[in-house]
Amino acid sequence: GPDGKRRRRVLLKLSGEMFGGGAVGLDADVLTRVAAEIAEAVRDGVQVAIVVGGGNFFRGAELQARGMDRARADYMGMLGTVMNAIALQDFVERAGIPCRVQTAITMTQVAEPYIPLRAVRHLEKGRVVVFGAGAGMPYFSTDTVAAQRAAELRCDEILVGKNGVDGVYTADPKMNPDAVKLDFITYEQAISQGLRVVDAAAFSLCQDNDVAMRVFGMGESTNVTRALRGEKIGTLVSA
Ligand code: UDP
Repeated sequence: GPDGKRRRRVLLKLSGEMFGGGAVGLDADVLTRVAAEIAEAVRDGVQVAIVVGGGNFFRGAELQARGMDRARADYMGMLGTVMNAIALQDFVERAGIPCRVQTAITMTQVAEPYIPLRAVRHLEKGRVVVFGAGAGMPYFSTDTVAAQRAAELRCDEILVGKNGVDGVYTADPKMNPDAVKLDFITYEQAISQGLRVVDAAAFSLCQDNDVAMRVFGMGESTNVTRALRGEKIGTLVSA
């Protein structure tokens, strides 16, 4: 900003499950709501970068289980994330905020290639940046890409939006009625307890590079804005 103080910059990870509203394809109602919530935080001055998943279209591991070559299946998974990225761009722009898509697989008619310095420039100008195509590499997940982009773009926090759960619990709250929600957990604890909020590679990248992560529920209708603004909802995972 004009006072020289850097604005809050966050990396939001949205799963394919969110895009599809639990089904295959896109749920326009969910997208409208989430885009409006993102727009509100951007109007408050928060810089928002987003990594999108693709599980509402294809997951490499599932196609492999049906006999496909894993690497090819993973490329299909990555292309699915690009469809989500383009959809999100459209909904964010209709909510009044300029938005750019950058992909890790080059397809310049559709999106910009991933160029970190250019992504930062977009963020500084108040544009949302959506990253599609994961890392561009098979055998990776979009969770891991979220950790990598957050580290490279020097985001203050990774915000992991979850469906059906509002943070990290001592046990699976659907299985165990005594499970208690945690306000805070270290990466060491999360990894040693085998918590699968994000995959192990993503946890370990965050731990090694000292990136904080907040896990929150997308269910409540203002939670995305609250998390983007820095409210202490859900569970903080950090060093
Ligand atoms: N994928 C990949 N490399 C990446 C990111 C994703 O191969 O860097 C593939 C992988 O097959 C994955 C699919 O894209 O199953 C969709 O991504 P992900 O499962 O992370 O999406 P989410 O579970 O968040 O919806």
